[in-house]
Amino acid sequence: MKVGIIGCAGRMGRSNLAAVLDAPGLVLAGGVERPDHPALGQDLGLLAGRDAVGQPASADLAALVAAADVLIEFSSPEATLTHLQVVAGTGKAQVVGTTGFSQAQFAELARLAGTCPVLWAANMSLGVNLLLGLVERVAATLGDDWDIEILEMHHRSKVDAPSGTALALGRAAAAGREVQLDEVAVRSRDGITGARQPGTIGFATLRGGDVVGEHVVLFTGDAERIELGHRATDRRIFAHGAVRAARWLAGRPPGLYGMRDVLGL
Ligand code: NAD
Repeated sequence: MKVGIIGCAGRMGRSNLAAVLDAPGLVLAGGVERPDHPALGQDLGLLAGRDAVGQPASADLAALVAAADVLIEFSSPEATLTHLQVVAGTGKAQVVGTTGFSQAQFAELARLAGTCPVLWAANMSLGVNLLLGLVERVAATLGDDWDIEILEMHHRSKVDAPSGTALALGRAAAAGREVQLDEVAVRSRDGITGARQPGTIGFATLRGGDVVGEHVVLFTGDAERIELGHRATDRRIFAHGAVRAARWLAGRPPGLYGMRDVLGL
């Protein structure tokens, strides 16, 4: 199976290159970057921290789509939607790890998934996907008198907040309570906010250093608290998940899939 990496010089792009190069049975079809990216022309193996492979980073997405069976992209929402339009209708599949989509952008992603198989997950790690199921179960078991708060921390360069994973954890908690996250989410607090409203799900965001990704879901009752958390210490957990998703997705019918499908959760 031939895998192409979009955004190949980014933090996740380099991890994805390494994961494909290390994966038995997978062939690296190539990697693309923005037309103005300084890494264009650099060897993809070296970008991944591996031996040179004789394939340079390119800006030619159409050529990469033609050469690959499945694409893996972790970039920005705008770039991802533009690239999906190129993949749509070609019979190729795309794994998307990008976060930070607005509601309208996500609706467009879902529409494009009607024309090609797309797997999107805010977090590709096995641990977080297990955590999503645990959070849903705990939220379904505890009553509204337990307050749910989600705390996340990421590296200083992250551009969207709360993280896509924090929002996915919020959706899991909301699903457990049989409510819509948008109707109960409190995404930030500042100033005289008034007392906490029962049934809300609050978010708090920390940014700093090189933190790969940390999430804690706090269920706080009177005189007791449950904390369910996950700490990522290396991006390769996401890249391994993306490669696993790519193997699973290639050749599926068009549609929008998630990591729960891949992991059979
Ligand atoms: P990054 O900024 O290091 O990398 C993004 C790369 O995409 C950059 O190299 C950029 O040049 C490239 N890019 C942007 N526009 C492009 C275009 N038009 N064509 C080709 N390449 C383009 O960011 P990152 O830390 O790698 O994160 C990328 C995204 O992945 C973010 O949304 C982040 O939240 C998300 N992420 C998801 C998971 C997950 O498991 N789903 C894990 C980590 C990060």
